[in-house]
Amino acid sequence: MLKAILFDLDDTLLDWSGFSGEWPSLESVYLQRVYDLALQQGAVLEPFQRFYEAFRENTADGWREGRIHLGAPNLGTILVTSIEAVGAPAGLLSERDCLEAYQWRAVPGTRLFPEVREQLALLRERGLKMAIVTNAFQPMWIRDVEIEEHGLLEFFPDCRISAADVGYLKPHPAIFQAALDQLGVKPSEAVFVGDNPAADIAGAKGVGMQAVFRVTHSVILSEMIQPDAAIHSLEELPAVLDRLQPGWRG
Ligand SMILES: [Mg+2]
Repeated sequence: MLKAILFDLDDTLLDWSGFSGEWPSLESVYLQRVYDLALQQGAVLEPFQRFYEAFRENTADGWREGRIHLGAPNLGTILVTSIEAVGAPAGLLSERDCLEAYQWRAVPGTRLFPEVREQLALLRERGLKMAIVTNAFQPMWIRDVEIEEHGLLEFFPDCRISAADVGYLKPHPAIFQAALDQLGVKPSEAVFVGDNPAADIAGAKGVGMQAVFRVTHSVILSEMIQPDAAIHSLEELPAVLDRLQPGWRG
């Protein structure tokens, strides 16, 4: 019997199509606050541009490694490493200090897909547990601020997991298993919904969950990765569940 639905976050619940793509200028605002905190704490630092470059380099390295071994990069660790690389004494700023200063917020231009809140409310009414499982390198507690701004937090009281928290990226089984454990459900009692064929669909099916592919942009599915269903809007999910998990409406 179906007990839980697990969702990917970005481009599954949260629509990034309105984002300008101006990531470097947005990020430099966050990074400036971390740099300023180190200065306030008395550090003698190389110019900000050097910190910015060190951060970009360490982040790119972290993701490159992650894509090979599926170990997740972690924003907190990268911030500490990068600020220490430009002169902050070891231990001056903790990961938490850096992340609090960074002040991640909802990204301008992003918004929930319009049907999301109504459909999540419907699933909640049926007594289903729900989780967010994201391949973010931000610890989830800083993304909580963002999803609260989007009005999403209330639907996920039980389980919100980012790759940074678990140390593994989807499709590694550990991140899916961590979510299932937190929800207290078996893979056969859960359905995963996501927009990334390799990370979400292959990953969820790899641990024994049914997987629903949310089509948000033009992705060509390889013959190796076949979802149990494909949807263009969460409005289609109840009918898909009728087919995959008959009796789920209780
Ligand atoms: Mg996604």
